[in-house]
Amino acid sequence: MVTIAAALQAVHGRIAAACAAAGRAPQSVALLAVSKTFPATAIREAWAAGQHAFGESYVQEALAKQAALADLAIEWHYIGPLQRNKTRPVAEHFAWVHGIDRADLAERLARQRPESLPPLQVCVQVNVGGEASKRGVAPQAALALARYVAGLPRLRLRGFMTVPPPSADPQTQRSHFRMLAGVLREARERGLPVDCLSMGMSHDLEAAIAEGATIVRVGTAIFGARSPGTNGDR
Ligand SMILES: *Cc1c(COP(=O)(O)O)cnc(C)c1O
Repeated sequence: MVTIAAALQAVHGRIAAACAAAGRAPQSVALLAVSKTFPATAIREAWAAGQHAFGESYVQEALAKQAALADLAIEWHYIGPLQRNKTRPVAEHFAWVHGIDRADLAERLARQRPESLPPLQVCVQVNVGGEASKRGVAPQAALALARYVAGLPRLRLRGFMTVPPPSADPQTQRSHFRMLAGVLREARERGLPVDCLSMGMSHDLEAAIAEGATIVRVGTAIFGARSPGTNGDR
């Protein structure tokens, strides 16, 4: 069995190779370890191997693990679907939220973010594949939502996130990621202070890095396969 430390090292190797191929500095891509469905002990093991940022998709599950890991200064990212009745625990217990796709949810997070904490770092989720089943705003609507979010107190807009349609073809993968990079470029041209592209997962991080990803969200390649029916983007 591959240890979590060895798997992490392998992922860092893939990131470094993809950065080299793209002429980018390896430090320009941050690794978010997606620990959803895996126990606190697995996160502790990854922490011991030097991984400090973790992504979770289910609020109750995340809160239980945060309590069990309160002795570690983990940076917690919420990458799951936002629900109206769960915005408060997300606003209170996470440093980042990747999946902002509605103005009313952003407004709730802004209102509920405690004054005692730094601003919540947020990304607007964009549905680059136009899939009816996927969350996220259409690329043409991303700028308007981003502008709204940038104007809210207690939130700091960082950029854009996407989960593209699954594809094994690197060119298809890249075309979806390129679309998100285009949204970021346009937002910057319009004066929005954004610098993040949260894109790329276990199977397509190379394509994402080639198109400018600054955060890759990797679960399976670090922790192993999840049980069926436990994927986050439902
Ligand atoms: C589960 C999940 C990931 C990680 O996917 P892997 O294929 O396991 O690397 C990344 N992003 C989001 C939004 C997820 O829900």
